Order: sequence, then structure tokens, then C-alpha cells
Amino acid sequence: MERVISGIAASSGIGIGPVFSLSDLTGSARTAGDVRSETAALSFAVKKAALEVAELAAAQEGEAAEILGFQVAMLEDEALAEEAFALIETGAAADHAWNKAMAVEIDGYQSSDDDYFRARAADLADIRDRVLAALFGVEASRSLPQGSIIVAEDLKPSQFLSADWTGGGAIVLGQGSPSSHVAMLARARTVPMVVGIGEAWRSLSGPLVVDGSAGLVTVKPSDETVLEAKAKSGDKARQRREAEKQILEPSVTKDGTLIKVMVNVAALSDLEGLNVEAVDGVGLTRTEFLVEQALHDENAQTADYAALLQWAGQKPVTIRTFDAGGDKPVKGYTVDGESNPFLGLRGVRLSLMHKDVFKIQLRAILRASVHGNAKIMLPMVTSPADLEIARELLHACRDEFIAGGVPHTLPQLGIMVEVPAVALSPDMFDAAFYSIGSNDLTQYATAAGRDNAASAKWADVTHPGVLAMIAHVARHGVATGKEVSLCGDAGGDPAVIGQLLRAGVRAVSVAPGLVAMAKAAIRAVDLSAREEAA
Ligand code: PEP
Ligand code: MG
Repeated sequence: MERVISGIAASSGIGIGPVFSLSDLTGSARTAGDVRSETAALSFAVKKAALEVAELAAAQEGEAAEILGFQVAMLEDEALAEEAFALIETGAAADHAWNKAMAVEIDGYQSSDDDYFRARAADLADIRDRVLAALFGVEASRSLPQGSIIVAEDLKPSQFLSADWTGGGAIVLGQGSPSSHVAMLARARTVPMVVGIGEAWRSLSGPLVVDGSAGLVTVKPSDETVLEAKAKSGDKARQRREAEKQILEPSVTKDGTLIKVMVNVAALSDLEGLNVEAVDGVGLTRTEFLVEQALHDENAQTADYAALLQWAGQKPVTIRTFDAGGDKPVKGYTVDGESNPFLGLRGVRLSLMHKDVFKIQLRAILRASVHGNAKIMLPMVTSPADLEIARELLHACRDEFIAGGVPHTLPQLGIMVEVPAVALSPDMFDAAFYSIGSNDLTQYATAAGRDNAASAKWADVTHPGVLAMIAHVARHGVATGKEVSLCGDAGGDPAVIGQLLRAGVRAVSVAPGLVAMAKAAIRAVDLSAREEAA
């Protein structure tokens, strides 16, 4: 009997295929051999894992290659498995010894004072699982077969990157969030993804139909549902191919209105394969992902921002300061145990609490800005004081650079409009530009949490109340001559683009994989035709 499970839409598109479930290897057991065979088994598994990751790293570039390079270095470091080998000597099975030794190692990284090391804990967990997979004879490289629906509690970036998504496939997660690193990768590579289906992930079997736009997973789909999904997916693929042919053409509506299309970036690797000529710049850089392991490292951040600016040439690159908090916790930086993290300390509120970390980021942006046309954007601004205190800090950093003779450029300072109170009072903010964060604006305006599958149907960006706020901000832009763009996911959704343009939006910023389709959707809008009104 067909059954539909509802989750949270994380990456649009239709996926049809067999389930491939990634169960938790750490929970498995293995019969112990003698000390010699267990030592040999572990040593073989570690070497095999190192070779696999090295192969994977060689096929990647940029940040993805760096993450995997670190894993290879760890696996090749003899010290890593020393403790596990010692446990085997005491009679432990190879998997048990490895698990135990890695748990201590991961704990050590997690409790480090250094953000960089804390962030590496996830890489260690990844290494642990890959070695376990080798021990259990499961080929990690085969563990994500082409065209399958990967079902898991959560997925790591390296697992995503190890799969070949060119032959289709999709992702369904028990946990996860649309703003997770892996969701960003999925959107950038147009892999359909539904997250947050809860414990149901454990019992999924048989063929599935995944609707990544609606956040729906159909279990045991009827022939009719499969046919419908295939038709929908075939249509989408055809539309995409057609749209890709015109990706370099400007996005002008039927009535001749030019709409800017920029790109959202969470990792430098997002830009692989995207011709800069296809976009009007970078409208949003989610730095909490781009430099999440370099919170305290000014030089590393400068290098990443400079790389973005160099990619963009003279086109604008909007660098959003850290938007941690809410569903993007950062250990040692965000506040644990808030009763409602989305209504608590996030975005610029946190930056102003951690001025040392904030200044490192501002300094890095100022330094990198000599390489192109950077703009700084503050997330979660609520009161004009948020903007003014941030501006003071920015100017203080600039003054230090002037005094020290450090080359730099002062970028424009703008704000995200994602708090309803700001959307209704943009004139209170002395910002150089505004970018509407429709994801958060919608969740706050409709009181429907982004991380809550149960309330997802109320989180409607086309609710007249939300559109009225968007229109209000757009009018303010026209009246003041300041740029207003929209960088939430709605900007890349062909189903709502028409309504956004009618509300006055004239610039959107979308995931890299959605640029061509967004431009095609814009070209189909006729702003002079009354009947198209929402
Ligand atoms: C938004 O809220 O719409 C936005 C673009 O920011 P994020 O999704 O990163 O919160
Ligand atoms: Mg937001």
C-alpha cells in the first residue's frame, strides 16, 4: 500500500529509485580472531581507507579536496591507530578496539578550545566509519550506488562527495536540516533531498519516490505514482537542459524588465562548472559554512574571500558575516540549551557578543577586498543599533589598517531583511543595500519553524502577508535608489518567481544549480499582464 511520509524540503527535484540504507556501522559487532589476525585486519582496513580517500581527493578541487586531504594525512599518521592496536593486544576485536580508540580521539577534538580542531571531529567520525566499513567488508566507494535513494539518519559531506550523482538518485534523512552543509552541496549539485522524516528512515525499503521540492517521500509507490513522478522528473530534466543552453543570456521578462540573477555560495567548490558570465555576482556568501573551520584564522579567511572575489572579477561579491545559531550551531561559539534557538542568539547578535571573532572576520574581508568588488552583509539585523555597532567595529578595523599601512578596501555595508519588524521599517536602517532572506522572513512571519516538518505547510512565501513585506522593502529600494535583492530559496523557485517579481523584486540570488532554471522562469514572466498576478 502506497504511503506518503512528510519531511522538510532540502533540495528540489524528483528522485525515483531503490533504497540504499546507510545504517550506523558503529553499532555492528564482529567476532574477534587472534591478536595477529585482528592486527592485520585493522592495519589493512586503515590502509584501504587511506587509499579510498586519496582517490576521492584526487577527483576533487578546492575545499572538498582540502577536507579529504586532511583525512588522508590522518589515516597515514601511524599515531592514529596506535591506541587501537594496543587494545587488540589486550584481546579486543579490531572493530571494537578501533571504535573505542576513535571515540577518545573524537572526544578530544570535540572538547578542544580551538574551533579548528573542534570542527575536525566530524572528519574523524568520517574516518572512523570508513575504516569500519573496510573492516566489515563494505566498500565505502560502493556504499553510495548511483541512482539510489540514500537513506540515513544523517549524511557527512565526504559521503555525499564520494557518490556519483550524475546518474540520478536522491537523499532522505531522518535528521538533518535544509541548512546543513550537505543540503547546501545537494542544492548546488541539484540532488533532490528531503530531511527530518524522523525515525521512519530506519524502516524504509523498496522503491521510493522523493519529491525534494515538496519534502515528500512516497513509500511503495503505485505504478501510477511512479509514472507521474517519472514524467515530472523527465520534464524537469528537459527543461533544465533547455535552460542551460541559455544560461549566459540575460534574464529579461517578456515585458523587457531586466532582473539580476546572482549566486549563493557556501563553499568554493559550489562554483566549479559555473561560468561567471552567467551571473551578476555573488548575492550571498554563507561564511558560516565557507570558513567554518577558520573562525579564528584571519589569513585563512582572507584567502577564501580573495578566491571568491577573484572568481567574480569585477562583479560584486556579497560576503555575509557569520550567521551561526538557530539550526546552525557552532561548538564553543553558539549558545547551548536555548529554548528556541531561532528566536535567540544568532547572526549578528552573536557576532556582537563575540567581538574578537567578528573583528577577525571584518579584518579578513577588508584585506581580501583589494581583490575585487566586495560588499559586507549583516544577518539577522533587528535594530538599527545592530548595524551601527557593526559599522563602528568595521571602521575601527579600517583605522587600524590605515595606521599600520595594511592594504585594504572598505566595502559597502548592507543588511539582510529577514526579521518582519525590519521588513516593515527598512527606512530606519542606514544600510547601503538590502537583501531579503525569504527563508527566515517566511518562518518568522508565518510562525512556522524552518526545522519543523509538521509546520512546513504554513511556511508559505506567497502568503499575502509575506509578499506585502517583500513589496514594502522593494518600494523602499526604489524610493532611495538602494539595491534590494532576495537571497532566500524562493528566488530560485520557478513556481514563485513570478509572484516575487510582481511584489517588486528585481534581483535574486540563487543556488548555483538553480541559476539556469531561475533565469528561464524569469524570461517567462510578463509583468505587464494583469492576469498573472498572484
Ligand atoms: C534566508 O533566511 O532566507 C537566508 C538566505 O539565510 P539562511 O537561509 O542562510 O538563513
Ligand atoms: Mg536567514
